[in-house]
Amino acid sequence: MIRTILTLPDPLLKKVSAPVAGITPAIRSLAADLIETMNRQKNCVGIAAPQVGELVRMVIIDASRHPKHYPSCGLRVLINPRITHFSDNESTGREGCLSVPDLTANVARSTAITVEAMTIEGTPYIIKTEGFEAVVLQHEIDHLDGLLFLDRVTSLQTDVFRRRNI
Ligand SMILES: [Zn+2]
Repeated sequence: MIRTILTLPDPLLKKVSAPVAGITPAIRSLAADLIETMNRQKNCVGIAAPQVGELVRMVIIDASRHPKHYPSCGLRVLINPRITHFSDNESTGREGCLSVPDLTANVARSTAITVEAMTIEGTPYIIKTEGFEAVVLQHEIDHLDGLLFLDRVTSLQTDVFRRRNI
């Protein structure tokens, strides 16, 4: 089922989400809904459960949907993801978000990360990635702590841009 995406200033976007306690039918169906909702949006490479009002620690990524075809591990469901390593190197890139439809911003992120999570079957796994996919994961996992990309910009005056084509 396609879910409605919450947008700023919805207060649910600022909440800290709770860990998934077990892989229940409701959790499986939420994962399916998030994938369907993400796939409906052109070029959308990630979505987090709180963006549809479900305050649980689940994100979906698929960096391969980006038109530039960055290297990526494709479609992944991450339950209770945790970033266990951030590279010291950072790079700054332009980010947008379905929940902040009118704005983009320059955000500095670690260029390589390691993430521990569970699959939708409840199996622990590790993703080590870099570049675009590492940025996508950092952006989506931030949603689980009530953080939006706007909370990461250095200067609201010089690093935030209004979208032209809306
Ligand atoms: Zn987002």
